[in-house]
Amino acid sequence: MQWETVIGLEIHTQLATQSKIFSAAPTAFGAEPNTQACAIDLGLPGVLPVLNAEVVRLAVRFGTAIGAEIAPRSVFARKNYFYPDLPKGYQISQYELPIVGRGQVEIVLDDGSVKTIGVTRAHLEEDAGKSLHDDSLLGGGYTGVDLNRAGTPLLEIVSEPDMRSPEEAVAYARKIHQLVRYIGISDGNMQEGSFRVDANVSVRPLGSDTFGTRTEIKNVNSFRFLERAIAFEVERQIDLLEDGGSVVQETRLYDAANDETRSMRTKEEANDYRYFPDPDLLPVEIESAFIERVAAELPELPDAKRARFRDAFGLSEYDANLLAGSRALADYFEVVARTSGEPKLAANWVSGELMAALNKAGLEIDASPVSAEGLAGLIARIKDGTISGKIAKQVFEAMWQGEDDADQVIEQKGLKQITDTGAIESMIDEIIAANSAQVEQYRAGKDKVFGFFVGQVMKASAGKANPQQVNTILKDKLKP
Ligand code: ADP
Ligand code: MG
Repeated sequence: MQWETVIGLEIHTQLATQSKIFSAAPTAFGAEPNTQACAIDLGLPGVLPVLNAEVVRLAVRFGTAIGAEIAPRSVFARKNYFYPDLPKGYQISQYELPIVGRGQVEIVLDDGSVKTIGVTRAHLEEDAGKSLHDDSLLGGGYTGVDLNRAGTPLLEIVSEPDMRSPEEAVAYARKIHQLVRYIGISDGNMQEGSFRVDANVSVRPLGSDTFGTRTEIKNVNSFRFLERAIAFEVERQIDLLEDGGSVVQETRLYDAANDETRSMRTKEEANDYRYFPDPDLLPVEIESAFIERVAAELPELPDAKRARFRDAFGLSEYDANLLAGSRALADYFEVVARTSGEPKLAANWVSGELMAALNKAGLEIDASPVSAEGLAGLIARIKDGTISGKIAKQVFEAMWQGEDDADQVIEQKGLKQITDTGAIESMIDEIIAANSAQVEQYRAGKDKVFGFFVGQVMKASAGKANPQQVNTILKDKLKP
């Protein structure tokens, strides 16, 4: 049987605020355990939560960026459960009335096709604390609780079950990641837990119009693991169903070391949580003027940038998407494209040579040793024929090592392309004279020998002879 995969993602992104969602305690990462939790985060009696206004602004910023309806009135609810890292016994979240309603984003797949993915809702909530299973604690056998994270503001972004492959799920997760960083509502740091993805996965016979039973995979902290976790889970479900079994709705954990998912607990239903409106917090009421103001402050968004790169610069959807990947990269590319006046060459160089060098050195674009102006200068020299594309790689290498001016490098290293016809002709004459056997072979019809001659000329000129001229002159002189 042919199976179809169905995936919906729930993404928790930490909002970039100085203080917590309902208290003034700091949110900075990496502090000593339990030094950044106050009485409100701990849920001590006699204290009241106060909503951080900045959190509302950031949520609205996200909502307007995905074209979503912003709720004029949203409500905080208590989600009740018992866990050591949740001293209040409930988490403050939004349930029936979330702040952000239905919106959508576009993803670009590897083949350049574009697909729209629905966002069902996005709601505000507080994070819980963290249990530390560390054997060095008190000599071992204990679990510690660090409440620094308790009360950290999260925006939970829930997608429609619109994705049909691990690749699409990763593209969507990357898209949300890109977006929250573009609009500056989160640093998106996955190692520090600022961006966490839960994947809901099911399969169904291809062509079926009802969904299969889903499982939810938690604890996925990289895009690579997300892809592998979903791929594993899809296989597992198909095997189960083909063996006559059925999928149990449950929460599963991805174990990266063994590349498998394991059952964690059976799925709880919403009514297990006994949600009810939090009596300590007023509903959030948002005026349309506020929404308009926040929308007006948005920067150019990734989709708009991609479309502009595609249309204004004639780039493929894939390249445009790649170069619009982050604001810093897009800004860099745009300077190279405009300064050099050669957007396609600029796209090739930025997405090829430059990105490879950055990846190899583990650097972000902001730390590139070759500036955008420097790279534009190099491209200008390719365009005006001063150097060939091949020599340009040598120049780039030297620029990467520290000399940012392409003209300086070309001058110092004597890399200027040889375009003087007379000079190329005399080099070719010498080579022809010294290789009469190969000349015979070529004239006898062995076309392959032509490459040998090109190689000899390039060697003699240290790669500097203009390749087109070499070709033309060689053809001419080798004619029987
Ligand atoms: P819950 O309240 O139990 O978390 P939701 O209905 O809010 O469930 O859905 C949570 C996520 O699961 C959403 O992203 C949704 O798109 C996804 N989802 C729902 N049904 C399925 C399914 N059958 N297969 C895959 N994903 C699903
Ligand atoms: Mg859920």
